[in-house]
Amino acid sequence: MDKYDVIIVGSGPAGMGAAFTLRKQSASLKILILDKSQVSTGGMRNDCKMNFTYPIGFPCEYWQEDDANKYLDRMIDFLKPHMLPKAKIEIYQKRAERLGCSLLDIRQTHLGTDGGLILIKSLLEKLEELHVDLGLGEEMLDIDKDKHTITTTKRTISYKEILIAPGRHGFLFLQNIMNSIGVGFVDNIVDIGFRIETRIEHYPIVHDYYDPKFYFPDKVRTFCTNSGNAHVVKERYITKSGESWYSLNGHAYSAEAGHDNGLVNFAILKTVKLTAPLASGQLYAENLGLSASLLGGGKPIMQRVGDFRLGSRSKEETFNNDLYDFEPSLRSCCPGDISLACPAKILRAIWKAMKNLDTIVPGILHPSTIMYYPEIKLYANKPSYLDDNFKVADGIHFAGDGAGTSRGITGAWASGIRAAEGMLAGL
Ligand SMILES: Cc1cc2nc3c(=O)[nH]c(=O)nc-3n(C[C@H](O)[C@H](O)[C@H](O)COP(=O)(O)OP(=O)(O)OC[C@H]3O[C@@H](n4cnc5c(N)ncnc54)[C@H](O)[C@@H]3O)c2cc1C
Repeated sequence: MDKYDVIIVGSGPAGMGAAFTLRKQSASLKILILDKSQVSTGGMRNDCKMNFTYPIGFPCEYWQEDDANKYLDRMIDFLKPHMLPKAKIEIYQKRAERLGCSLLDIRQTHLGTDGGLILIKSLLEKLEELHVDLGLGEEMLDIDKDKHTITTTKRTISYKEILIAPGRHGFLFLQNIMNSIGVGFVDNIVDIGFRIETRIEHYPIVHDYYDPKFYFPDKVRTFCTNSGNAHVVKERYITKSGESWYSLNGHAYSAEAGHDNGLVNFAILKTVKLTAPLASGQLYAENLGLSASLLGGGKPIMQRVGDFRLGSRSKEETFNNDLYDFEPSLRSCCPGDISLACPAKILRAIWKAMKNLDTIVPGILHPSTIMYYPEIKLYANKPSYLDDNFKVADGIHFAGDGAGTSRGITGAWASGIRAAEGMLAGL
């Protein structure tokens, strides 16, 4: 049987942050990183914009500002990111404040989907040079916490310490692991809303601020803005009973990649906190995803703002004519009526936020703007952690978006460092 001091499951930013920290502290540790994909599948691979200002990406229940800043500084020191310039922020901030909204001033970088791939490859090369073993294309299936072993699609491996950081897509996998090792968790918070797509001329703020983070009343916010060569994408999720549903997302290529399509897309989501008797955000999200899929004939739904305002569904034959003058970047969605699928409370809060946004940055409510539904973020697994280093059992730590310790690349990287510090103490 292969034996390692530390196994890291997931080569996303949480796994990377942990691996580099462990190696820096000890040249002799035997470390293995596993990933079921050849290249990590999260935000480093998709768009790769990084936010270096608290609280973006740092769930406040786990992170104090001083702590997060300490880890962000270490990350900046390591990655040497080039921060994007911003302009006219105060003007937008003043307009937002007058409406009871706010615009956060965040330090950001944007590598793009192409630049993210280059970064991932260079980090993996660095890890190999540092004699960290890589098991790419190898999936962790199960864990035996008493024997300190895991099974993968290829073998059984033993560990002294393990970090499980499977990202948002590993949400269910992590829940299965928690059930098998007896770790309690709640997943009662979920973000639900739309992916908005429009021409850049209708959302010109992106010339001044790449990914503007607006906060609106009723826990609605914008994030994950992509522009230039920007595309809406859909991610497939499978329920426990094998049914599939889609959540939307977005990404863009770097300016160097060329092919500007003149479009911008961003998420506008409402945070929903569930209480008993239904306390599972996962189940609620699945339910909404399935009903959108039912109404969309197996696809997500898209509706032009012009149709939505008139209370009529968008139709295939009218989706691109007259004022509806750009092709959606994601064609495989069904023109329809999002108000049949989206719960009223969520729809009302987001529509109000969009009206506010249109006052702050006039243009977003142009009739051609597309609202894609649903975009759902399932990052709210909240395991019962035993300490500040995200330990859940003897020799087992969790980190990253799937484990609720982060909501973005930088927060995930910082979580990985913090978990690694805990693992080092246990070795
Ligand atoms: C399309 C998209 C775009 C995004 N864009 C951004 C962005 O621009 N900026 C930003 O800050 N955040 C972005 N995010 C969010 C970002 O992905 C996450 O915040 C971040 O990647 C979380 O890091 P992580 O290490 O927790 O998980 P991930 O980066 O998701 O990495 C987890 C890894 O674990 C692997 N894995 C899962 N299960 C197993 C298993 N059983 N065995 C082995 N390996 C496994 C996966 O293949 C994956 O590579 C985006 C997310 C998506 C999906």
